[in-house]
Amino acid sequence: MATSDKKAIVVGAGLVGALLTILLARRGYQVEVFERRGDMRGVGFKGGRSINLAMSTRGWKAIDKAGIRKKIEANAIAMKGRMMHNLDGSLNFQPYGKTGQAIYSVSRGGLNLELIEIADTFDNVQLHFHQKCTQVALDEGELHFEDGKTGATNVHDAPLIFGADGAFSAIRSAMQRKSRFNYSQHYLDYGYKELTIPASANGGFQMEQHALHIWPRGKFMLIALPNPDGSFTCTLFLPYEGEDSFEHLHTDTEILAFFQKYFPDAIPMMPDLLEDFYQNPTASLVTIRCNPWQYQHRVLLLGDASHAIVPFYGQGMNSGFEDCTILDGLMEQHGADWPTIMDAFSESRPKDADAIADLALRNFVEMRDLVADPQFLLRKKIAAHLHQQHPDAFLPLYSMVTFSHIPYSQALAEGKAQDQLFEQILALENIETNWQHNPKLDSIFQHWLASKKQLATV
Ligand code: FAD
Repeated sequence: MATSDKKAIVVGAGLVGALLTILLARRGYQVEVFERRGDMRGVGFKGGRSINLAMSTRGWKAIDKAGIRKKIEANAIAMKGRMMHNLDGSLNFQPYGKTGQAIYSVSRGGLNLELIEIADTFDNVQLHFHQKCTQVALDEGELHFEDGKTGATNVHDAPLIFGADGAFSAIRSAMQRKSRFNYSQHYLDYGYKELTIPASANGGFQMEQHALHIWPRGKFMLIALPNPDGSFTCTLFLPYEGEDSFEHLHTDTEILAFFQKYFPDAIPMMPDLLEDFYQNPTASLVTIRCNPWQYQHRVLLLGDASHAIVPFYGQGMNSGFEDCTILDGLMEQHGADWPTIMDAFSESRPKDADAIADLALRNFVEMRDLVADPQFLLRKKIAAHLHQQHPDAFLPLYSMVTFSHIPYSQALAEGKAQDQLFEQILALENIETNWQHNPKLDSIFQHWLASKKQLATV
């Protein structure tokens, strides 16, 4: 690609689009970004609710690439484990990984704003806000935009087009109409609603700040992530229909009775519970998969546009950021040879996106139900023990996903192999009291390891 052709359009200046823009600009591309919303630097993201996300190892790597770790870290809160809130009000802390390992609560708006500000420092980046992509002519590489303020329409083209326009991507929509494009979307029967635990009167945290709080209640759950201002953003995940569900929560009495029954320790910390409940929407949870992610070596999908997942592993943004890291690595390797880059990316990445989609669905059951199950807790303890004893041979699934760069598909496969291992271990007699120095456990583990090695060499 000649230098004069190093032009790209990025649709969507959300988390992934803004980061991608920085990485493209660094590599000398002339980037035009079109974003449907207004410029958050002008309107501010603070007017609304404080929404946070859990950032983990894969996300941090991309943040490092953008050179903004220090800025983001300054307002990030380390969450070293899960704090379980039992029905009787008792608390139980479960560390996420080894000492020193944590996931980080970061502000979605703050992070997006920071990324947009950095993108705007490049002379070769032009940001266009209030520009909704309404029509896509894929073969011509032509995009139509409507100005949200004036209603005017305009057309732009570029040799490279990146669809980072989220789960309901206009670019993907156009690709869906092309032959041999696979697509699926699946909604959970659950919705979610954001609620708030404000800071205490003296501005402090009302609960432990270095934890992700969970109220697991079997079929549903409430979670809370800390914010730097002392508040917590809570999310209630609940079925749309059924006995305990959103369809039965319409009046003050119904809502308060439900919270009194299931989350009694949270009520005194939520003075605006009713107001929040009525004001904040009940939103849906979707998994979107598609393949291929590229069209004619000219158009590429990234982030939620190609793989929207449910939020229970805290990996949606992290995996979108990992898309950017991988794409940047391919640009490093292949220069501007986009046919090679797009083929490599589109070939390797969807299976990892598929795997994290599956893992996220599976983690919902773990968070809302299993975390309170003694068998599950025992497995966690034994897994941590095995990792301590054999750090190179055994890494718990959660750590592979959250604290490593191991491809998600590999982590999922390893997780399934670990399920088989634990089926045998947990069947051992008196294992609940006798797992630390248990020759039978050691023998099962060694046998499992050997059979894995054998498989690897076949
Ligand atoms: P988006 O953030 O959706 O950005 C897309 C952008 O494109 C938006 O700015 C939008 O305005 C713009 N756009 C859309 N259509 C058009 C158009 N036609 N024309 C122009 N612009 C357009 N992930 C984590 O890693 N950790 C978490 O803890 C976590 N928690 C979550 C909790 C919840 C409740 C939910 C729903 C998600 C969570 N996620 C989490 C997932 C994360 O929010 C997404 O994966 C991430 O926002 C995807 O970024 P994106 O840039 O691909 O898409």
